Amino acid sequence: MTKIISREESIKLGLKYFFTGEECKHGHIYERYTCNSVCIMCSTVRRKEWQKNNRKKIKQYCRKWHDKNPSYSKDYHKDNSEVRNKKARKWRKDNPEKAREWKNNNKERYKELKRKHSRTYRRTNHGKLGTICSNVLFRLSTGKLYKSKFYYLDYTTEEFLRYILVPFPQFNTLQEAYDAGYQIDHIVPIKLITTLNLDKELSFRIVMDLNNMRLILAQENSSKQDSINYPIVRETIEILQEKYSISIN
Ligand SMILES: [Zn+2]
Repeated sequence: MTKIISREESIKLGLKYFFTGEECKHGHIYERYTCNSVCIMCSTVRRKEWQKNNRKKIKQYCRKWHDKNPSYSKDYHKDNSEVRNKKARKWRKDNPEKAREWKNNNKERYKELKRKHSRTYRRTNHGKLGTICSNVLFRLSTGKLYKSKFYYLDYTTEEFLRYILVPFPQFNTLQEAYDAGYQIDHIVPIKLITTLNLDKELSFRIVMDLNNMRLILAQENSSKQDSINYPIVRETIEILQEKYSISIN
């Protein structure tokens, strides 16, 4: 129970609130502000009401403030991007109709965000692996898979990265390897896999098998000319044949 204290007394004591124990005119039994005798609950209700009816004004105000404080805004967004993304994803999941409506009402902004997002995403390891998958699918000319391309991989992005970067402790990300002139090489060439006429999911899984991938310098890659007589290619063929019960000649 909150202690009963009159306004006069709370003024004398320099308190922010007082409490009479009586209902306000809207039926709340709540503390009131010493300065103006307004019930806190009434004030909260009114503020929320005002906020609801003045979304535009608030938005404008916030935007102005952020424009005046660019570095604060930038740092804040950087620090909280993960939390915010998670929140936004959850909101979209919980409010699919509202999300769709927003998308329809803000087509330009949506496009811009999407472009920005995919630019950032493509720079991540997960995005890079996705690009590798897409390139393989394109070269297999299989058309669309039934499920997300990541579904067919028997490894996670982290496992992929750990495996592929083992010979290169100097790199922490794929981007660093790319920047140094390295490329992903599929040891048993995609061309050879396509001649086997396997179904598209299986072809994709074989090409994308961890055993079938390595990082090599771009110039090495172009001089390789798909020779299946290289020991590493023969070796990999053995592994893939056994793992997928196929025969590659
Ligand atoms: Zn009230």
